Amino acid sequence: MLNETDILPDGLLEAKATELLDLLGTPTLIHLQGEKPEPLFISTLLHGNETTGFYAVQQLLKEYQDKPLPRAVSVFIGNVEAAAVEQRRLDRQPDYNRVWPGTRHDNCAETDMMTNVSNIMRKRKPFASIDIHNNTGLNPHYACVNILNPHCIQLAGMFGSTVVYFTSPRGVQSAAFSDFCPSVVLECGQSGQADGVSHSSRFLQAVLNTEKLSSEHPVHINLFHTVARVTVPEKFSLGTDSSTDIHLNHELEKMNFEQLARGSIFAGLNPESNAHLVVTNESNEDVTSEFFETRDSKIALKKNATLSMYTTSERAIRQDCLCYLMEQIHIG
Ligand SMILES: [Zn+2]
Repeated sequence: MLNETDILPDGLLEAKATELLDLLGTPTLIHLQGEKPEPLFISTLLHGNETTGFYAVQQLLKEYQDKPLPRAVSVFIGNVEAAAVEQRRLDRQPDYNRVWPGTRHDNCAETDMMTNVSNIMRKRKPFASIDIHNNTGLNPHYACVNILNPHCIQLAGMFGSTVVYFTSPRGVQSAAFSDFCPSVVLECGQSGQADGVSHSSRFLQAVLNTEKLSSEHPVHINLFHTVARVTVPEKFSLGTDSSTDIHLNHELEKMNFEQLARGSIFAGLNPESNAHLVVTNESNEDVTSEFFETRDSKIALKKNATLSMYTTSERAIRQDCLCYLMEQIHIG
């Protein structure tokens, strides 16, 4: 399933993400030599409709067409099949960012492939790992880490002042690589926006030219901890109008990374339905009653919380979740 190569495939730097299936045929791991041997690992298109990472890599590599890379670079181009049809994943596929070592997913060709990519990279002793994503709702650009290790936080702080620490969901690429190198996820706003490509490409360039990561905590960061994930049970209909079991609050899309006060209305309910949301913590326990209460066919927050990745897109909610709930933490 995996194609591994030491040569930059012809046409890769000019291709559109939708053309990669024709060009590569399969998920591809490309190793490029550079002056320092410990590679920068860059993961792109784990979600086929999140193209920023791929275009940022194109921009980065175009800079070095006529000069050597300051350090080796290994690029993983993930779900080319889903990218061809501009989907996160195909219905028959698992989520490519839930099947890395540490996953709860059953063994399948994709879990084998990601184990293989991890083993290959572990032996090459990466300098750092950067996985690049987009989100569906409106969010600022931010970086995520899976362990609160100074090198990880330093790396995340090079992308921007907002940093999110999460341990759930399991099986994500960045958590697997945190086992053997500093790893971050970049969330670069919505797919298809030029500022996401230029911001992440500038960041890749900066990391590529970094000799050594400092162990000091960057002072300028706002660090959030993802404490819970909100999902909608399959059996309830959802939307932004009142004909659905759960009517989502469109206004909350503008509230990602803003603190919502206790009592804020999260969603409306059809009085005839027994619809509800489900909140799970990092240990996968149902903690709905700690966060939400239902009154007069409305779901309200029971305590202050900060949202991330809130979206009203039904497809995005069904394939992943409605949002995450975060708390700010202080370190250093
Ligand atoms: Zn993604």
